[in-house]
Parts: sequence; C-alpha cells; structure tokens
Amino acid sequence: MVPSAVCPITDTLITDVVADLFYTATHQLPQDIFERLNSIYQLEVGENAREATRQILENAVKARQKQRPMCQDTGFPVVFVELGRQCPYQGDLAQAINQGVAKGYTEHYLRKSMVKDPVFDRTNTGDNTPAIIHTELVDGDHLKIMVEPKGTGSESMSALTMLKPSQGVDGIKQFILDAIFRAGANPCPPLLLGIGIGGTFEKAALMAKRALFDPVLDADALRQKADGGDPYAGLALELIQMVNETGIGTQGLGGVQMCIGVNIRTFATHIGALPVALNVQCHAARHAEAVIEADGTVTHLGQHIGTEARFDEASEAVNAHVVKLQTPVSAEQFAQLRAGDRVHISGTIYTARDAAHKRMMEAYEATGAFPFPMDNQIIYYVGPVPAMADEVIGPAGPTTAARMDKYAPFFLNHGLKAMIGKGYRSAEVIDAMKANGAVYMVGIGGAAVVIADSIKQCDVVAYPELGPEAVYRLQVENFPAIVAIDSQGNNIHEQGREAYRKRDLPADMAG
Ligand code: SF4
Repeated sequence: MVPSAVCPITDTLITDVVADLFYTATHQLPQDIFERLNSIYQLEVGENAREATRQILENAVKARQKQRPMCQDTGFPVVFVELGRQCPYQGDLAQAINQGVAKGYTEHYLRKSMVKDPVFDRTNTGDNTPAIIHTELVDGDHLKIMVEPKGTGSESMSALTMLKPSQGVDGIKQFILDAIFRAGANPCPPLLLGIGIGGTFEKAALMAKRALFDPVLDADALRQKADGGDPYAGLALELIQMVNETGIGTQGLGGVQMCIGVNIRTFATHIGALPVALNVQCHAARHAEAVIEADGTVTHLGQHIGTEARFDEASEAVNAHVVKLQTPVSAEQFAQLRAGDRVHISGTIYTARDAAHKRMMEAYEATGAFPFPMDNQIIYYVGPVPAMADEVIGPAGPTTAARMDKYAPFFLNHGLKAMIGKGYRSAEVIDAMKANGAVYMVGIGGAAVVIADSIKQCDVVAYPELGPEAVYRLQVENFPAIVAIDSQGNNIHEQGREAYRKRDLPADMAG
C-alpha cells in the first residue's frame, strides 16, 4: 500500500481523468452498443426504421472521427465511483469530480444543461455541474471512475413501481411494457433498458442506472445463460422480444427492432415487496470508465468503435425515394407531402425551442410581429452544442417536440407550415396542422453530427441571451427528415404499430 502522505492519486489527477472520460464518452460509442445497433440495422425490415438506424450508425462513426458529441444533449453528468477500501486517496472526491465535469464540458465545447434548482431557479449553472455521484466501497487499493452523460429524453421516460410479490414475473413484464408504450418515440429508440429488481425504492433505481454500464449481451449469449439456468437472462430475452413486438420501432417509425438490450441487476428484498425500476437509455448509450491504481497509473477501460463503416451499402436504394424540398416551399407542396415520405430540405429554416416559442408569442401579442416572417415557414426544434472555431454550428439533432405542443397551434394559426423535431405530437397540434395544411417532420434523434453536416450557415435572429435556445436562421443543404404527420393527419407513429399488427413477423426478433 502507498502511504497517504505520498499518494499519487491527487484531486488534480481525478479532475483530469473525469474531464477526459466525459469528453471520450460523448463522442465514442462503446463497442458492444455499436455492434448491437449494427445487428438491429441488419435485421430491420421497415424501410424508414432501417434508414434511421443507418443514420444513427453513420452518426456514431462521424462523431468519433470528428471527436464531437454524437448527440447535442450531452446530458446529466452521472458518475459512479468504486473506491478501494485500501486506496490511499484522501482528497475531496466530490469537488475533484465536479471540477472534472466543469473542465471537460468547458474545454471540449460540450452543451451545458444543468440548472441550479429544479423548480424555483432554473438558471443554467454554466459548467454542467453538479455531477450526480454514486460512491461504493469495494475491495482493493484502486479507484474506478465510470461516467455517463445521460440524455434527458430517455431519462425522463424512466419509471419505478412497487409491485406486490404475487404480481411476480408477469407484473414485471407488464410494468416494463406499459412504460415502453408510454415512452413511444420520445426516448430515441432503439433503447437499452437498465432494470433493477429488488432491494428498496432507491436501491432498485440505483441498480437500474448501474445496469446501463454492464456489457450488453446479444440474444445468443442471453440464450446460453438462460439455458445454463439464469432466469434473469430468460426474462431479458422475453423483454427484448416484447419491446420489439410493440411496433413502435426505431425512432417510432415502425419496424421490428427497438431494443439494443436488457440489462438486469437484482438484490434481496422484503417478504412484502417487489420493487422494480426501469432506466431507459437511448441509442446514444454513452459511458466511459477508467481505473486509477494506487501508484497513480490510469487505465482506460472498454473498447470504443473504430471508423469502419459496415452499414453503408443501404442508402442508395433508400435515397432513391427522397423528396427534395427547396425553400420557400409552397402551401401546395406541403399539402402534397405524405406521412412516411423521406425529405431532403435545402434553403432557409429557423430554430426555436420552448423559451423562444414563449418569447415569440409574447412579442407577437405585444407588437403584432414575429422576429421572422412566419408564413409557409419551417421551424426546427433544436438546441445545438456550442460551435468550435472551425464549425458553422455544433452537433444539432432534434429535441423532443412535445415540449412545444402548447405553443405550436398558435404558430400554425399564424402561418407556420412545418415543424421538425422528434417524438409524438398532441391531438391539439395535429388538429391545428390539419386546419392549416401543415406537416410535422422528424429528424433522427441523436444523429446530431449527420444533421449538423447539412447546415451551411447559422445566424442569430433573436434572443441571443438564450444561447443554444436562441432563434437561429439556418441555411441548409439536404437536411434529412421524415414526414411523421402529414396535413391530413396521417401519422407514421400510428402506421408503424398498425403495420406491425398485420405483418407476418420473423420467428425470432430478439436479434
Ligand atoms: S439520442 Fe435522443 S434521448 Fe438520447 S441524448 Fe440524444 S436527444 Fe436525448
């Protein structure tokens, strides 16, 4: 054991390791996740879902090549620490970790998303701190740090229940299925499910989160474990099958693949309890880890994807059906678009998120004018990563459209003809779209680098103080999107599930 007086594990070392891990995690997808996404791509039969998976893979490769975040939401900073009981480190661990988060997010131009208070002061802390830190004492003299930039789109779809023991396995399956149907397209499927079963209320949730770091097994490996007598491997297999069978599919576009994997952790529990927690993880299943030995040696663990692209044979056939939209797009052209059409948009579009929508509404009510002409316009729901010196814009994938639902009818009634986001829309928004001949398109959630590549110019139009939430005018070339809901109310999210119900399914969809 190294005497603490000369301990080479310093706060500075921990800070540097944490900064580096967050940087790595945001642009390098773990190898097992990449392999599973590749299998999903190979097995998918739905055209739009297959194209979405192709874009997700292309995005992962580009993110690594450019060393830029694969998704614009660089997340809650979640950190698990395993601290060896004999580890000589005696510093201020929480402070060192928080300084590492601040350093990593600032030096590497990652988007900062943490606010000071959940209810009364939602001011951005400016450096993505504080981290959410979980520390566990383990055998040994090392210190292991595992980080996860956890996107809010999937975190917000997580759930916990306290079942009765008599509800057993069927109750667990129903709870997971209900949560997946509730989540739908919002958490950017394909999904990795972290599940905690047993313990107490908080233990189940913690296990579900921790399970996201476990290696993701494919169906063959799970089958082997199940055959070897592991009932939880059998349950994981069943859950994968059930999730795939929902027909929600990749990005809610239908198809037969939706599940990257199911990782289950368990713990003893009370005779009267059966706690079950589900932590939903989107396809940007980012994590990175390192071990710091007692002598200060740092070893980074886990393989990350190489740049080989084994998925690109697809897109020629797929892109043969793309509708080219050049702005200004006429009302007639918008009306002709149909749910399921793949489009490439070129020309001018505008960005706005919740805060900008609110301000634009207030501005209109006060002055009778918007910051840009709303007639026949396209608004993209996005909050990009800060741009680096040589970038037009940082990674810029779509954000959850439902957050704009309370504002959208107002803008549709004032000339807006198209919205681009991700996830579902409310009945009120769809009614307003039908009344105004408007469409809702989805970008591929998490394909932030691919989408940023289509943005050739970016200028602030209004509210610069909102940072990534300001209103921007974008000049785009072949911006890729899919019409999810057309002006007649046809909805691809519904069609996916309907098509599933009518389709002859492959015998084994677990992949
Ligand atoms: S892929 Fe989707 S859910 Fe995941 S972090 Fe990005 S926007 Fe959020």
